Amino acid sequence: NMFTNTNFIQQIIEEDLKKKKHSFIITRFPPEPNGYLHLGHAKSICLNFGLAEKFGGRTNLRFDDTNPITEEIRYIESIKNDVKWLGYNWNEHLYFASDYFDKLYKWALQLIKQGDAYVDDQSIEDIRKTRGTLKEPGINSPYRNRTVEENLKLFENMKIGKYKEGERVLRAKIDMSSGNINLRDPVLYRIMHKIHPKTQNKWVIYPMYDYAHGQSDSIEKITHSICTLEFETHRPLYDWFQEKLKIFKTRQIEFARLNVTYMVMSKRKLLTLVNEKWVNDWDDPRMPTISGMRRRGYTKEAIKDFCNKVGVAKRENMIPFELLELCVREDMDKKAIRLFAIVKPLKIIITNYDQTLENSDFYDIIALNHPKNKEMGQRKIKFEKEIYIDQDDFQEKPEENFHRLAPNRTVRLRYAFCITCNEVIKDENTKQIIELRCTYDPTTKSSHVSMDNVSNHTGPTGPTENIQKVKATIHWMGKNNSHVSEFRMYDKLFTKPNPESDGDDNIDMEMLTEQNVLNTPIDVKKEKMNNNVSIQMNNNIKSNVNTKVVDALDELDKKNEEEEEEEG
Ligand code: ATP
Ligand code: MG
Ligand code: MG
Repeated sequence: NMFTNTNFIQQIIEEDLKKKKHSFIITRFPPEPNGYLHLGHAKSICLNFGLAEKFGGRTNLRFDDTNPITEEIRYIESIKNDVKWLGYNWNEHLYFASDYFDKLYKWALQLIKQGDAYVDDQSIEDIRKTRGTLKEPGINSPYRNRTVEENLKLFENMKIGKYKEGERVLRAKIDMSSGNINLRDPVLYRIMHKIHPKTQNKWVIYPMYDYAHGQSDSIEKITHSICTLEFETHRPLYDWFQEKLKIFKTRQIEFARLNVTYMVMSKRKLLTLVNEKWVNDWDDPRMPTISGMRRRGYTKEAIKDFCNKVGVAKRENMIPFELLELCVREDMDKKAIRLFAIVKPLKIIITNYDQTLENSDFYDIIALNHPKNKEMGQRKIKFEKEIYIDQDDFQEKPEENFHRLAPNRTVRLRYAFCITCNEVIKDENTKQIIELRCTYDPTTKSSHVSMDNVSNHTGPTGPTENIQKVKATIHWMGKNNSHVSEFRMYDKLFTKPNPESDGDDNIDMEMLTEQNVLNTPIDVKKEKMNNNVSIQMNNNIKSNVNTKVVDALDELDKKNEEEEEEEG
């Protein structure tokens, strides 16, 4: 179980079980199918499914599909897919609030008969205006005291389509002067002449989310209804319905929404990004959606670890994006196969390359797929006369802390030889560096003694144990044994830590960062590779590489190698 942090919700459940309030707990994950799931939903999924798993209970997947205007079948499919991808299973417990429309309707009749609900002819706008404020009580509707018979008749007319949208609503009759605005005669049903994705044209009246939510929980006998803090003030209303209808009582527990810097966590705002084509779609790898993160190469283990590390809070807070990247990095470090990828190629000619040895073992280089995990295998690459390194690994006038290649300096080509830069060639017109001339030292071939199927590295100059001390080891690639691949470099979607700070309703589109597409050489591994890696190298598959993650893995490799050297 990934969910190991103790938290206050867990304590509540533990107590309820100890007191024998329940013998079995049931939680639910209740998305509205009006968009793709984002990282905040992942947290809610981990919490609901994780807690049920921990206490041997179960979790229902329930679509809160009460608003036909914004809901779509494709969202339902993507949500199911994302929950499954995270590794959770609702088994046969898949429900839709729309399955309960009949029951909710009967309960509405019951409320009317009890004198707890009435049909209001006021417009939605007037209802909003007369709700009052935190300081001022609301004003009773002139239709509040209709008789039960009249209300039943009017509600029936609403249901059979006699009225236009907005002409009438059904409201609960609670208290227009309640300190909690949600209790000031909330709307229960509105008229919408819309086709619903599930119930099609059966209904022209639809329950409000607040009227459907608590009762849906009750129907499913949810013991612990876990939701975000904004529903705290709705809880008295949900309780009111359950009491008035004398149905199963659920216990709602609120926790703080997940907010992450540089991310926007609102389906409505993400939809704007999609609709206005700031991103390609909901699953664009720059999106904070589960499907976007999946395409970006994030693993479910990393996402679950993040949700676990973040924990459960009672107060709104902001989690740094770096924590998410750390979780991804830690997971990738264990799993990702390391290939050489040169993103900005710089050509090197090895001037003392011995063409007569070109096809000999001596220029066969064994590269490990993971510096620390031999089980992940190895691959053979070729040391060639013309090779490429990354432009960032060379500085003509090296800065103080730059230890990689520079004129007259020696570095190691990883898994291969040490090379020394003797000459820098520039384009006559542009003065850009276009090539380096280097010599290699044949006595410095790396030997991975642990590799069994590698022949003894004996070159023309004798045994190859001369491990020269150099300050840096860099990636490289032979010209003929590389492979051009498309890299999609994704950075954060927004450049500002809090893209939502400038107002609740707008996101500053200026802050979106661009996607870079580069075509650069890549080292191909011939055998079939583990699919579970961040970088999939395949002629047909476009590679999605998060540079930040790649850089970080590079750093980790350096550390791993240093440690190995120390150990050896
Ligand atoms: P959005 O504003 O993005 O549409 P929502 O809360 O309206 O979010 P729902 O589909 O209703 O989206 O959410 C399903 C569940 O996920 C709810 O229980 C909700 O509380 C939870 N959830 C949504 N966003 C977050 C978040 N940022 N952190 C934690 N839980 C969240
Ligand atoms: Mg919601
Ligand atoms: Mg919403």
